[in-house]
Amino acid sequence: MIEFHNVSMSYQRDTAALNDVSLKVPKGDFVFVTGSSGAGKSTLLRLIYGALTPSKGQVIVDGQNITRLTRSQIPYLRRNIGVVFQDFKLLPNRTVLENVAITLEVLGWGKRDIGKKVYHMLKQMGLEHKINATPLRLSGGEQQRVALARALVNDPKILLADEPTGNLDDENKEQIISIFREANIRGTTVVVATHDRRVIDSSHKRVVRLESGRIVEDSDVSN
Ligand code: ADP
Ligand code: ADP
Repeated sequence: MIEFHNVSMSYQRDTAALNDVSLKVPKGDFVFVTGSSGAGKSTLLRLIYGALTPSKGQVIVDGQNITRLTRSQIPYLRRNIGVVFQDFKLLPNRTVLENVAITLEVLGWGKRDIGKKVYHMLKQMGLEHKINATPLRLSGGEQQRVALARALVNDPKILLADEPTGNLDDENKEQIISIFREANIRGTTVVVATHDRRVIDSSHKRVVRLESGRIVEDSDVSN
């Protein structure tokens, strides 16, 4: 589903945020990308959703070489990719329903189908009673679940998460991780960047560790 072939990425000359990274994430895999701050985790995720193009090497996502995509093709790539961030990035002046509906509006879904699907999704997340609230009235854990609902409502092929549990307590962390697991069981390939050792250790999933832009450990022996 995701392939990096000798990928390097430099924001500035002479300093590589990623350095000769090769990685294969098969369809249906669940991978944690870890490493200290500045190791290159966010950069790796940005390359997958086409927010960056590599300075060297090739990135293949869902059979497409993102290096060769034009600017206008990037939105089509992103339709298959759900993304969540540590700071949620919800629209503060829109309701929970509207925040999640956006994903489907962009895809051209009809209003009634959107209503049904969004309600179903929010119910799964235990948020159906918050449907008309605005994000700032929600707890951190609830906000992250709204962000996850928005990322998952169209059943994306890939889910990317950048430090998704950073600001959450243990109970909320577990809830978020179990949502990742369920999405993964339903067929979504999941890539989570985190430096949270406890989240990783309790999940028993593949771990790729970055150090100064290089992969220094990959628990998947087939790679
Ligand atoms: P991580 O997510 O592991 O903290 P990042 O991918 O954010 O690591 O950063 C990797 C390296 O690239 C760091 O040295 C960081 O300072 C640098 N970097 C990240 N984003 C930018 C940017 N937009 N401009 C310049 N340098 C950046
Ligand atoms: P994260 O690792 O989760 O992306 P950071 O705090 O590293 O969080 O980065 C936050 C923002 O700052 C990102 O948009 C990143 O591109 C940018 N950034 C990070 N490092 C640098 C840097 N050295 N120079 C310029 N921008 C940077």
